[in-house]
Amino acid sequence: MPELPEVETVRRTLELAIGNEEIVEVVENYSKIITNDIFEFKKSIQNQKIHRIDRMGKYLIFILDTHTMIIHLRMEGKFFIKTNEPVLKHEHIVFKFKSGRELRYHDVRKFGTITLLPLETYLESYPLNKLALEPKDINIHKFFEVLQKKRIEIKAVLLDQHIVSGLGNIYVDETLFLSKIHPTRLANTISLDEAAKIIKSAIQVLDKATALGGTTIRSYTSSLGVHGRFQNELNVHMRKDLPCPICQTKIIKMKIKGRGTYVCPSCQD
Ligand SMILES: [Zn+2]
Repeated sequence: MPELPEVETVRRTLELAIGNEEIVEVVENYSKIITNDIFEFKKSIQNQKIHRIDRMGKYLIFILDTHTMIIHLRMEGKFFIKTNEPVLKHEHIVFKFKSGRELRYHDVRKFGTITLLPLETYLESYPLNKLALEPKDINIHKFFEVLQKKRIEIKAVLLDQHIVSGLGNIYVDETLFLSKIHPTRLANTISLDEAAKIIKSAIQVLDKATALGGTTIRSYTSSLGVHGRFQNELNVHMRKDLPCPICQTKIIKMKIKGRGTYVCPSCQD
C-alpha cells in the first residue's frame, strides 16, 4: 500500500511529467473509482488545465482551472503515462490530454477513489476536512493529550488516519523501533517524552523515505517507473528472524489489528 513517501514520490513525478497538460476527455472503463456522478465529472473536467499537483496526507490533489481532483490510491492504485497504446485490463480511468498523451489510472484491487470538487471549497469538503495533521505539523502536547485518552495499542493509534496522517504499516514499525517503544504498549501509558520521541522519529523516517523515493516492496510496486530505495534502509519491517541492527537480537513478527508487525523484543519496550 502506498504510504506518504510513495504518494509524495508519485506527486513529484506526476507534476514534472504532466503539469500544464490540458484534459480534453476522460474515458472510464470502471466508473466506480469516480465518486462523483460520472456525467457531471466528465463535463466539469473537460478542457481543464493541470496547474499544480499538491498532496495532503496520502491524497493527491490536482489543481485545475475551476476544480480540484482529489485522488487516493488506497491499496494498489498507480499511474502510467502513455501515448497511442492499447488500454490494458486494469487501466480503469484514462485522462486524454490535448498533447495526445494520456494519464491512465491503474488499480487491480479497485479500492482507489477519484473525486472532483470545486476549487473554492475543496479544503472544507470531505475527505480533506476529516484529515489529521502529518507528523511534521503535529503539536506534541495535543498529540500527548489524544494518547492519554486511548486504551489501545500505540501502533493502532498511529495507523489511525484521523489522528496522524500519512503513516502506514511500514513507517509505523520503523517509527516505533527508532522510538524504542513496543507496538503493543497501550497509548495511555506513553509519557510526554515518549510522545515527542515518536513524532520526531516519524518525521525522520518519512523524510528519509521520501528522499529515497519511498519503499518498493511486494505490497507496493512502482508507479510511473519510479522505484523507491528505502527498502534497503528498513530496520525491522519485513526483517523477521534477521538481527536487530542495534543489539543483534532476532526481529520477531506479530499481528496487531491484523497487520504484520515487526519488533526488536530487546530494544523496544
Ligand atoms: Zn534491538
